[in-house]
Amino acid sequence: MKRTKIVATLGPSSGSEETLVGMITAGVDVVRVNTSYGDHDDHARLARLARAAAASTGRPLTLLLDTRGPKVRVGPLPEPLPLSAGEEVVLGEGGIPLTVPEAVADLAEGVRVLLADGELELVVLGRDGGGVRCRVIRGGDLHGGKGVNIPDVALSLPSLTPFDRESLVLAREMGFDCVALSFVHRPEDVAEARGLVGKGLWIVAKVELAAAVRRMEEIVAVADGAMVARGDLGVEIDLYQVPLVQRRLVDLCNAQAKPAIVATQMLRSMVDSPVPTRAEVADVANAVWDGADAVMLSEETAVGRHPVEAVRAMAAAARAAEEGDVAIRVPGLGRGLVGEVSAAIAHAAHCVASEVGARAIVCATSSGWTARLVAAHRPGVPIVATTPHEDVARRLGLVWGVLAQVIPSAQDVEELVQTSLATARDAGLIASGDRAVFTAGLPFHEPGTTNLIRVLTVP
Ligand code: ATP
Ligand code: MG
Ligand code: MG
Repeated sequence: MKRTKIVATLGPSSGSEETLVGMITAGVDVVRVNTSYGDHDDHARLARLARAAAASTGRPLTLLLDTRGPKVRVGPLPEPLPLSAGEEVVLGEGGIPLTVPEAVADLAEGVRVLLADGELELVVLGRDGGGVRCRVIRGGDLHGGKGVNIPDVALSLPSLTPFDRESLVLAREMGFDCVALSFVHRPEDVAEARGLVGKGLWIVAKVELAAAVRRMEEIVAVADGAMVARGDLGVEIDLYQVPLVQRRLVDLCNAQAKPAIVATQMLRSMVDSPVPTRAEVADVANAVWDGADAVMLSEETAVGRHPVEAVRAMAAAARAAEEGDVAIRVPGLGRGLVGEVSAAIAHAAHCVASEVGARAIVCATSSGWTARLVAAHRPGVPIVATTPHEDVARRLGLVWGVLAQVIPSAQDVEELVQTSLATARDAGLIASGDRAVFTAGLPFHEPGTTNLIRVLTVP
């Protein structure tokens, strides 16, 4: 079983059920719908399509909705626009269209404008009517819809636009399990989003602004997980600081037993190439060793030529890293969790499993919390979370090493043990005669009461 989870972004390359089935079979655990593209009808349709594809494979799938945020983008272009270094162009009114033309109207001479996550760079020469005249510093083919960043000028736009509010309110109805919140500035942004999505859905905070980097600890404390959104991050802060932020953010998430996603350009060359580069394979492996719960594909599966191969390559890179003789970093739980009963049980389950040679850790859990606490130790054996709640099971798709299974609500501990072990056995993770470590909580139906640990032999 692959332990690290794979998030794949949907787009024109992955919009058919057949491709989706191929991607899920190749190892996709989470599908990301980026609301920067299309309208809510499209997003709901993609969610239904992904669910149908997952159902036909019989594999679990988690759906993640990514908010647009206040990002300025290049408007639609009939075809890619070639820009060469040294050339002069007009940006905004009267030139290259922008989704928010006013965003550049007041830019002073000398300000840098970065396009497509910084692949292209312009410098402002002066105003030109309602737009700005720029010189191309770094050229390339500019595609419509690409992002525009102006890191020299702090545009402190709110992270939630009216469209994002709508997305958040509709997320559950559209069938999503989690939302990724773009351009989080401060912890209050997460709190505000939580008020809109309601209970249940997880909120993954995307760290992609210098402001968010400064307040990462507080942001992780209020979110359910976080994403190292390296695309915008690499232009909003010094590019060479990105790996440091990645390590720190993954550590902070691990310490809170919250899922961490490493995103953007992981297998970038596979947009065109059927094989990844050595450096890309190493990036995935290093993310696994850093302690990431999930690694993400963006344009590779959204607009790439080899969406299924990209997933296959990512799964192979992750699996090789997991199976290698290299320890995954485990920073240890944060101060707030030390001394908590369920955290102690989870730690014990990890230690006991390794001492007695158990083949799996089976956690009967109503909220999924115990399975997350066990995962934080990165045990060498599968973590099977059994829960009566389908939504809980689906969200656990984001968590490293956890396979969640829905079971009927049990009447007593013996029944819970039997059903949970049988489920893990039927899933092929343990066999008759194997040892397993089992955790649960008494009394029943009270979330957060994990206080029981047993070592069992699978019948
Ligand atoms: P974000 O900042 O939210 O990551 P993004 O523009 O980087 O937004 P991704 O979802 O990361 O978008 O996808 C990477 C690239 O793939 C985009 O820049 C775009 O060129 C392309 N892409 C993604 N989804 C779509 C889509 N639905 N339609 C067209 N192009 C898409
Ligand atoms: Mg991106
Ligand atoms: Mg981004």
